[in-house]
Amino acid sequence: MAELRLDSPLQYVKGVGPRKGAVLAEHELITVRDLLYYFPRQYLDRTSITPIGEVKPDRIVTVIGQIKAHGVLHGRRRRYEAILQDDTGAISLLWFGGLKYWEKLFKKGQVYAATGIVGYFQGYQIVHPELERLEDESDKLVHAGRIIPVYPQTAALSKVGLNSRGLRKVTTFVVENLSDRVADPVPDAEREKAGLGHMHQALVRIHYPENREDIEQARRRLAYDELLAYQFVVVQSKSEREQITKAHRYEMPGRTVTQLKESLPFTLTEAQSRTVDEITGDLRRERPMNRLLQGDVGCGKTVVAVLASAFVAENGMQTAFMAPTEILAEQHYRNWEVPLAEVGIRAGLVTSSLTAAKKRKIAEACAAGEIDVLFGTHALVYDYVQFAKLGLVIIDEQHRFGVRQRSGLHAKGENPDLLVMTATPIPRTLALTLYGDLEISTIESLPPGRQPVRTVWRKADVREKVYQWVRDEVGKGGQAYIVFPLIEKSERSELLSVEDAYKEAIAGVFAGLPVGMVHGRVKPAERDELLAQFREGRLSVLMATTVIEVGLDNPNATLMVIEHAERFGLAQLHQLRGRIGRGEKQSTLVALAHRPISEIAHKRLEYFVSTTDGFKIAEADLELRGPGELYGLRQSGMPAFRMTHLGADRDLITASRDLLVRLFEEHNKLDVEYRRLYTFLQQKTADRPSETRGG
Ligand code: ADP
Ligand code: MG
Repeated sequence: MAELRLDSPLQYVKGVGPRKGAVLAEHELITVRDLLYYFPRQYLDRTSITPIGEVKPDRIVTVIGQIKAHGVLHGRRRRYEAILQDDTGAISLLWFGGLKYWEKLFKKGQVYAATGIVGYFQGYQIVHPELERLEDESDKLVHAGRIIPVYPQTAALSKVGLNSRGLRKVTTFVVENLSDRVADPVPDAEREKAGLGHMHQALVRIHYPENREDIEQARRRLAYDELLAYQFVVVQSKSEREQITKAHRYEMPGRTVTQLKESLPFTLTEAQSRTVDEITGDLRRERPMNRLLQGDVGCGKTVVAVLASAFVAENGMQTAFMAPTEILAEQHYRNWEVPLAEVGIRAGLVTSSLTAAKKRKIAEACAAGEIDVLFGTHALVYDYVQFAKLGLVIIDEQHRFGVRQRSGLHAKGENPDLLVMTATPIPRTLALTLYGDLEISTIESLPPGRQPVRTVWRKADVREKVYQWVRDEVGKGGQAYIVFPLIEKSERSELLSVEDAYKEAIAGVFAGLPVGMVHGRVKPAERDELLAQFREGRLSVLMATTVIEVGLDNPNATLMVIEHAERFGLAQLHQLRGRIGRGEKQSTLVALAHRPISEIAHKRLEYFVSTTDGFKIAEADLELRGPGELYGLRQSGMPAFRMTHLGADRDLITASRDLLVRLFEEHNKLDVEYRRLYTFLQQKTADRPSETRGG
């Protein structure tokens, strides 16, 4: 057998072989190098492990112990219990589903690490913990100060013995024997400047750290590479786009824009007027526009985009306006069809739930140039929709779309201008990194007369009182949203579902009130009917899942209750809050947190009630998220952030960006090791779908 190299197939590694090799390959772990980059998802060490005798309720803990007993418990709900014991005590691990699976899995005396939120019911318990099978001696190693990596696992990997424990055997071998072959693409001087070690060292430490400090240093080195790759794509797209000239020109003065503005029932805020000018300024240029319009929920981005489409229409070109949900696309169309018609602009709507005949009719009109602004969902991307002369592509709530949808729409014109919108504003420092190839317009403030939503969070103990309060307020003419995390009760979860809560409420606290329920499985026609009734005030309460999260506009709804608020991210809570406080009346939101409430959830809720400023929320959201969580942006097609902590790694963001700008601007003047980095990044990012043409 030839000597093992970084690009050798994994099956040749000691203890792997063809069968395991095939399963690894299914997980895109093909070469030795791939496995070096398969990072632990967690580490077990003394600092992360709680002696079972010291657990406290409502905390997330990891405990290590031996299985003392296990079996099915009968009762109101059948469940599987395993008792885990260490020298200090015992705790019960519980599952409400998969009883047979657990029965087979556990053997008395096995050692496991279990991670989850501690609850209390006749003793401490963890419901649905994450489990990690350990060697019988590992617990001793951990207590002796060793750190044990825990790898991401899948059922398929476990089946061939490559659970985390099995993977540790392979990574130990690979790290010991091969990691020193890794070259570091980043020039020494640059690594030094950023305070980073060699890639080889980082890879060893990320798998087998001596201490927590090692992990953090390794993470930062790996993050730096991610940032370089990401920004390489961004900077490259930008320089590519700067070569393009539009086929179309906008020469008309924008009279329809003025007319449309004058017909509005309100005056634009200063920020709105400024952004309209920024956009029409871009549209007049010979390079295609690539602009992001960002601003808090409810700040009035739609009208800005519509005014841009009026400018485009006046210049004889078409606009495609894509929204992430049918509800939203229809709402835009309904709101703007008439005002646009009054200034001579023809609007249309296309969604998947239209009849085939209607779709055909719209498509024909659009292809003939008889529609100026076509609103729609991702249905706009389908082949049957063609434009006579697509000049502007608008993408609302852009983070909801994949690259393919965005670029598919973009490809329907000849280098059309592009305007993307987001209600998840991002801090300045990050904007350059994530959106460095976009120009950015920001609407900083809400229209006048809005009152901040009064927001409180309460433990779910007061649930009944809160529902009574909703009933009383609704009795005085108010309208309320009640939001749930689930549609129906699930085996595996203790969460409230909208269906159960709805049944209970209409028979109980809301008896006699007009209450509706919407979620992702309600048929579009029925859902539209319900939403229409809610908007017209014929329904007082709308019980819903997060389908109502984006865009819905009913200024009369002033109450919101969020159930299981401890489960939602900060940005999502804020989006939900954006459904109320849209009129001039004072709005109130009650976030109900159900036990157990983790520390981080506690922090999130405290922060959520402390401000209604979307920009501050965005900052905090970033800090509270761990590394690897992308910010609801550009999910697909871009190099991923697995190790980067966008909140904490600001220094690396700046350093990597400076380096890249130099790589591009001074390319030919730079030393050979810099040019090598350029080539490395070019190869690394070569297979991505083109972002340039798609925003
Ligand atoms: P978002 O930025 O979240 O997409 P919308 O465009 O849906 O916000 O606007 C929210 C609401 O504010 C809409 O009802 C819209 O008509 C209203 N609105 C927009 N601009 C103004 C303004 N300048 N003055 C008053 N109301 C406005
Ligand atoms: Mg919007």
